[in-house]
Amino acid sequence: MKLRAIHTCDCAACQSGEAKTQLHHSQLNLLMSRLDERQRRWLAAVESNRIGRGGTGQLRTITGLDINTIRRGRQELAAAFTSNPVGRIREAGGGRKRIEKK
Ligand SMILES: [Zn+2]
Repeated sequence: MKLRAIHTCDCAACQSGEAKTQLHHSQLNLLMSRLDERQRRWLAAVESNRIGRGGTGQLRTITGLDINTIRRGRQELAAAFTSNPVGRIREAGGGRKRIEKK
């Protein structure tokens, strides 16, 4: 797995020194750094849904993930991961072609 730098949140609450929010956002980003790409967008989706209105934009600020990545995570979450079978990081047909097929 590719190493991912830990994102530092620069949301208004973190910048104004709200300790509880800073801890939550830094731990969220620490956790994100250990997840694979789909787990990251699903975690962002859960957090975004928890916030509700404006959540996707906030999660972009907090995590540095692309807005479309978070939207996609929310769609997958809403669909109960039906397009993401257990044990598969990329969707069927996604990713690089097998070497023998080249
Ligand atoms: Zn923050």
